[in-house]
Amino acid sequence: MNIERSEELFAKANKLIPGGVNSPVRACRNVHCAPLFIESAKGSHIRTVDGMDFIDFIGSWGPMLLGHAHADVDKAVCEAAKRGTSYGAPTEIEVLLAEKVCKALPSCDMVRMVNSGTEATMSALRLARAVTGRNKLVKIIGGYHGHGDAFLASAGSGLATFSIPGTPGVPESTVQDTLLVPYNDLEAAKEIFEKYGNEIAAFFVEPCAGNMGLVLPVAGYLQGLRDLCTKYGALLVFDEVITGFRVSYQGAQGRFGVMPDLTTMGKIIGGGLPVGAYGGKAEYMQRIAPAGDVYQAGTLSGNPLAMAAGLATLDILEKADYAGLEQRVLAFVKELAGILEKKGLSVQYQHIASMFTLFFTDKPVRNFADVENASTAIFESYYKQMREMGIFLSPSAFETAMVSFAHTDDDFNKTLDCAKKLKF
Ligand code: PMP
Repeated sequence: MNIERSEELFAKANKLIPGGVNSPVRACRNVHCAPLFIESAKGSHIRTVDGMDFIDFIGSWGPMLLGHAHADVDKAVCEAAKRGTSYGAPTEIEVLLAEKVCKALPSCDMVRMVNSGTEATMSALRLARAVTGRNKLVKIIGGYHGHGDAFLASAGSGLATFSIPGTPGVPESTVQDTLLVPYNDLEAAKEIFEKYGNEIAAFFVEPCAGNMGLVLPVAGYLQGLRDLCTKYGALLVFDEVITGFRVSYQGAQGRFGVMPDLTTMGKIIGGGLPVGAYGGKAEYMQRIAPAGDVYQAGTLSGNPLAMAAGLATLDILEKADYAGLEQRVLAFVKELAGILEKKGLSVQYQHIASMFTLFFTDKPVRNFADVENASTAIFESYYKQMREMGIFLSPSAFETAMVSFAHTDDDFNKTLDCAKKLKF
């Protein structure tokens, strides 16, 4: 595979941008490859500057549930751009998107738009602290809630990938209020509440953990967290930045029937433009300025292009066949895992809706400690060989593959054919 142009751009980028990229995992460092630079994408396919076409299983890490450059989303963005790109004043379209989000997510009476998932979780934490008058937060080991200081203790995503326990630049005093528990362990959650119950402002959880690879909640886990938070007066925050509008149109809360106090969102609600949001019950959200006293603001928040992309995306998703896509993805993942097992590999797959992760281990995966058993060496070989054959996978064993409504049976069959050619 000739990736000369990508390599040239990467060499130049390395002199101008730290690590040559604007977000760490993209650099493909842990799989020891140069990143592929992208020229364009359409549907389920992505094209590099070297003129190569790939079947895309990253989907921009989540936003592209409709596939790339969907005609209706494109049209909405282009038409919005002609009317001006930012006003710093309210618009009708942000009201329409807020209405759509609140209608979709059962726990949200009100929502505030921001520009990224990171901003959403930082703001939700501030609100939870203000509402409860408490400082501590609980997060999951290997859970990722963006790069806000308070969340950078034992986080997933790029931090799991690089085994960085936290990061320099975050004062100890900032993370001293961050308590950690393993995912899917209700006993550990109980213990932490028994010990710190009257100091805990919020319990943050990705309802389906998506940043240690995909790990699904065991039966009763999310309801157990709901009950604990209610008992101790802490706010339950579902970080639905990945799961929102993906595991169902009603998010994980709709799918599992467990209502959080606050929800953080991102990715899909921006249709591929920079958007995040947080929402919840009116009694909490009314505390946000200028309705209330908790400050949070943004020059580009509710940006008309981003709102147009988000609204066009949700318009389509509202009527989309989620169950049909889930069945197709499940059949594909089972077959993919089967092919790899036939090659003598131990594979555990986790799947829900249009996302999945293959873990190269023979033990079941329920939390971050289990995830760490999975072989990153086998993953690296799998990644590199699949990439050579035109399959664009997340360059990390600890990420979730994202499938879109644009993926065809032909895409799945081609991917399976490539898997059959793998050598270990
Ligand atoms: N929360 C979750 C669950 C995420 O997966 C991410 C990003 N992958 C974030 C928060 C942060 O979002 P952003 O990268 O848009 O800041």
